[in-house]
Amino acid sequence: MTNTGNKCKYGLCDGSGWVWVTPVGGREHLRYCKCHYEAEKQKRFETLLKESQINDMRHMTFESYKPQHQTQWRAYEQIHAAHKGYYLFGPYGVGKTHLMAATVIRAIGKEIVSVIITVPKLLDSLRRFGDKDTLAIETLAYEADYLALDDMGKHKVTDWTEERLFMLIDERYKRFVSRKIHTSVSSNLPPEQLSNTIDPAIADRIRGMCAEVFVDGKSYRIRQ
Ligand SMILES: [Zn+2]
Repeated sequence: MTNTGNKCKYGLCDGSGWVWVTPVGGREHLRYCKCHYEAEKQKRFETLLKESQINDMRHMTFESYKPQHQTQWRAYEQIHAAHKGYYLFGPYGVGKTHLMAATVIRAIGKEIVSVIITVPKLLDSLRRFGDKDTLAIETLAYEADYLALDDMGKHKVTDWTEERLFMLIDERYKRFVSRKIHTSVSSNLPPEQLSNTIDPAIADRIRGMCAEVFVDGKSYRIRQ
């Protein structure tokens, strides 16, 4: 029992995160205060933010995006126009990640809790979280008001990956329907081919909540 010096947000404990309770007919005992769970949730979210890749992408704004190709102009205009969920697809190296990062930076600027992560990295993080993985998924699904998933379909598909992704995408989809939280996804797979690679139930929900945007052009990585 440690007093952190913080005041209890709910005015229930002395800041230690513990409260004494006496049930009817029972003995007085200590129990976690409501503020303890709140702090735990915050800690998990911060861990997850560290896993998120936005810190390496701070330069990838709408302002620094330089469309070279007609589809890149169109994609830029469409995505710049509104904060919502997008499915960005096209070949590698044409700036999909830049546009995704720009949507996240814009959302953060509007104080929308936002996370960007590649799907292979997300799955790797979930694996490392071990038996806490459901907490990580829950945190992503519930706490991020905007989630950008880069490189969908690039992961090695197994029953485990598809189960994990389904749980997440299904939750995001339900919340999109009920309270308009947004999820964007990028992939080199055209939307109609997505269900050939990943679980069709995941692909369906992605298509249900994301506006489809095609990006083409020469690879920025190859250009000198
Ligand atoms: Zn408390």
